[in-house]
Amino acid sequence: MAIDYTDARRMRLDVEFSFAAAHRLPRYEGPCFRLHGHNYKFLVALEGDVDPATGMIADFGKIKDVVGEEVLARADHRNLNDILDNPTAENIARWIWEVLLPRLPGLCEVRLFEIPGCCVTYRGPGGR
Ligand SMILES: [Zn+2]
Repeated sequence: MAIDYTDARRMRLDVEFSFAAAHRLPRYEGPCFRLHGHNYKFLVALEGDVDPATGMIADFGKIKDVVGEEVLARADHRNLNDILDNPTAENIARWIWEVLLPRLPGLCEVRLFEIPGCCVTYRGPGGR
């Protein structure tokens, strides 16, 4: 089937990343008050019009470079309490959003899994 490449279409792409880090929740009464670690997984989503010339919304390689520099270099094998006062999954997702937004046009969602099957989703200050 021929695709009409001149018909730019809005699409979304997601790229998955992971890192290992320690944290403790100073305002939580329970085991997570104590220092412990997680293997975090997160998805970074961008929305945009597919460029008719390249057929892409964005370059996966560029997204990987930016996330590597802005998130993984600061968070992987680190103590997240050095970055955030209260590093809950919600606050980590928001921090990821804030460090990526200036360098990733079209950023529309960050989804962070703290443990398999449990995630938080942040879509920016509008809270959509
Ligand atoms: Zn935890």
